[in-house]
Amino acid sequence: MGDIHTLDKSELVERYSKLEEKYAEFKSKNLSLDMSRGKPSPDQLDLSSDLFSILNTNTLKTVDNNDIRNYGGVDGIREAKDLFAEILHVRPAEVIVGGNSSLTMMYDTISRALLKGVLDSDRPWGKLPKVKFLCPSPGYDRHFAICESLNIEMITIDMLDDGPDMNKIEELVSKDDAIKGIWCVPKYSNPEGITYSDEVVNRFATMKTKAEDFKIFWDDAYTVHHLTNEHPHLKNILQACKDAGHPNRVFIFASTSKITFPGSGVAAMAASEENSQFILEQLSAQTIGPDKINQLRHVRFLKNLDHINEHMKKHAELIKPKFDLVLRELDSQLGDKHIASWSKPNGGYFISLNTPDGCAAEVVKRAAEVGVKLTKAGATFPYGKDPKDRNIRIAPTYPSLAELKVAIDVLCLSVQMVSIKKLLND
Ligand code: PMP
Repeated sequence: MGDIHTLDKSELVERYSKLEEKYAEFKSKNLSLDMSRGKPSPDQLDLSSDLFSILNTNTLKTVDNNDIRNYGGVDGIREAKDLFAEILHVRPAEVIVGGNSSLTMMYDTISRALLKGVLDSDRPWGKLPKVKFLCPSPGYDRHFAICESLNIEMITIDMLDDGPDMNKIEELVSKDDAIKGIWCVPKYSNPEGITYSDEVVNRFATMKTKAEDFKIFWDDAYTVHHLTNEHPHLKNILQACKDAGHPNRVFIFASTSKITFPGSGVAAMAASEENSQFILEQLSAQTIGPDKINQLRHVRFLKNLDHINEHMKKHAELIKPKFDLVLRELDSQLGDKHIASWSKPNGGYFISLNTPDGCAAEVVKRAAEVGVKLTKAGATFPYGKDPKDRNIRIAPTYPSLAELKVAIDVLCLSVQMVSIKKLLND
């Protein structure tokens, strides 16, 4: 089939009509497939079924002899703090274990910053004429949704091969004290699967910021979500910030959502001890404490980092074939056509596809018209607007292999049709 750019107009028209025939075939099948969100499949959820039975009335006490059925402990139970400290490579005193969602912890952290300020603020962010966040993109749509809903202006930062464009970030934060924060998914980033290099981590830790209370929102959501045995090293941001004399610059977040049960997992945040104490003071007006029953059953089930890594291998056995299938099909159906490029992640939950500029929204629309729902085009950028209209996030984990094959066939077909149409119109 080959590079479509070498075809003349009549060849393009002929190619398009062949693709249209295939498209009509898919349409007649009345498909209903959903690849829009990164959800674990039912067989992944089955891996954590023991969570339902691991606690009983004989196991109601924490190591500190606290009864998990009663109030108390705003920072989480000691064994859950120990576990997250191991996962995040920080000290237990630097960990606050929360409820069922890290996104809630991020939203609450920003809400409190707006209402009360963070450590080093001279006033609440909400009292300032403008608050801005840097948003490496493509990125996680729900980070951007938090900013949009709280009226924080978002500035798009390009993602490069080893993390966000640090030259741009350093330039902006050194000049503008309205820039109070940045979103980062530093390991197996959503959606590209990139892990930040040591240099990027160092530059984050050492850079000069005009705002004294600038914070990095380091969302380490995929820190244990390996797809292969090659685990990239992510430099410890909290240690790097301490070494650079900015110990209070970073808030780290994580959860067990995609380790056990999304929506019923355990979330945590980590920060310097001083930062954590500051947060806990504010937090104790917000809650008497988190769900300790869920925390204890997670600790009993997940045990320690070695055991989590074993558990994550079982996830990988289930989802790696799905990633492989998507990558194989993208390669065989689009590889030689010079119309698309895509990420080849070693972990995380997504594959990021770039179509020719100006095509992504139309591709997503065409796929939807034959019953294949993809993540909304533009969702991976602030305000839902991809300036190049080219990025599509593929979430391969939920559908079965058979469903995934059909969905990717439809996606590849749609990419080809829209690309050819664009060439014909240009
Ligand atoms: N951060 C990132 C980068 C994610 O991709 C997700 C889930 N899709 C979350 C956070 C949500 O985590 P939680 O369920 O703990 O709110």
